[in-house]
Amino acid sequence: MRGHAQREQGQEDGHGQEHGHDHHGHDACGGHGAGDVVERAERLCQTRGLQFTRLRRDVLAAVAAEHKPLGAYDIAERMSAPGRRVAAVSVYRALDFLTEQGFVHRISSRNAFVSCGHDHGEGAGLVFLICRTCGGIDEMTAPAVESALDKTLAGAGFTPTSRILEVEGECGACRGRGDAGENA
Ligand SMILES: [Zn+2]
Ligand SMILES: [Zn+2]
Repeated sequence: MRGHAQREQGQEDGHGQEHGHDHHGHDACGGHGAGDVVERAERLCQTRGLQFTRLRRDVLAAVAAEHKPLGAYDIAERMSAPGRRVAAVSVYRALDFLTEQGFVHRISSRNAFVSCGHDHGEGAGLVFLICRTCGGIDEMTAPAVESALDKTLAGAGFTPTSRILEVEGECGACRGRGDAGENA
């Protein structure tokens, strides 16, 4: 019984825990490699009867390869090769699609995008932890925050179209490095 409860909790905010456990920096999230994210998206597009065009795939791969939010122009630059310029407007169009399908999230405060390989539902309340020192970003679901927020919004008679929270600060890895520096 105890084991069962634990597993349920792990599923509920599993990806937050995964990230929390591995503190070798933001690029060490082996479970959600760029290839995994792209493969998963391809599978889901097939299931949903949607076109996973080469452009969409390339844009998602570019975003998934970074653990920092990437702007559309950065993505276009990464995808461009000599003789093959990718226009930012095409990237934006692909990003619209990828955002709608939940394969990427838009980080409003940065006007930039991060990939998502998680299986949270469309309406899930998300919390993004954005590190000001390394620029890394972690995504979490926070059911407790979500239900409190829902109550507050209902009290205000306000219907949210999105409930994405962005929290800026310093990640554990950077804080660890900072502390070590002070002691030396
Ligand atoms: Zn997500
Ligand atoms: Zn950091």
